[in-house]
Amino acid sequence: MSPPSAHRIFCIGKNYAAHVAELAHLGHAPAGELVVFMKPASAIVPAGAPIPLPRGFGAVHHEAELVVSLGGFGDGGRDLAETEAVRYVKRITLGLDLTLRELQTQLKNKGAPWELAKAFDGAAPLGDWVDWHGGDLQAIHFTCRVNGEPRQRGDTSKMLFPVARQIHILSRTWKLIDGDVIFTGTPAGVGPLTPGDEIALESELIGRYAWRCV
Ligand code: ZN
Repeated sequence: MSPPSAHRIFCIGKNYAAHVAELAHLGHAPAGELVVFMKPASAIVPAGAPIPLPRGFGAVHHEAELVVSLGGFGDGGRDLAETEAVRYVKRITLGLDLTLRELQTQLKNKGAPWELAKAFDGAAPLGDWVDWHGGDLQAIHFTCRVNGEPRQRGDTSKMLFPVARQIHILSRTWKLIDGDVIFTGTPAGVGPLTPGDEIALESELIGRYAWRCV
């Protein structure tokens, strides 16, 4: 295990059908294509550190996600075949794609970028990296609890775009670099956080990471 670090943080949106359905009532249409956005590496909050919730911008939602760290590209990293892509996953963990939901809805309705709602300081709480030596990334289960109450249950077999396809698609636009990170999308059950909440992510395979909201 090693503390969280990232070169660039790519995030995948609308990657679980049940989550797409729960956002539909906010007027967020299903995507069809891979939804990609980015967060700055400065948004990372290591496990155990306080999460500074933004004030005055409406509800902050938790989005629990499997997170992968890429490496081993050498001089490659561009136009990777989906069949080759998973071997570049070197480390995995769990993380939170924190989202100012009302602000995101307003930005979407205006056709504006999402950074103000997704890339703020503290928007990427991230567990410790666990080395990944191969195995099935699409058979990982994880749980998100707020104050002990289960809020989200993840099953990566339900992803609309599996991790290998995410890497393949990203590599058509970016030359991927060692240390690049992907937040792979959230399952259903997203909801608001308030100061004082304890949020915990856990997976038998990966570990347990917790944060206190302030
Ligand atoms: Zn997300």
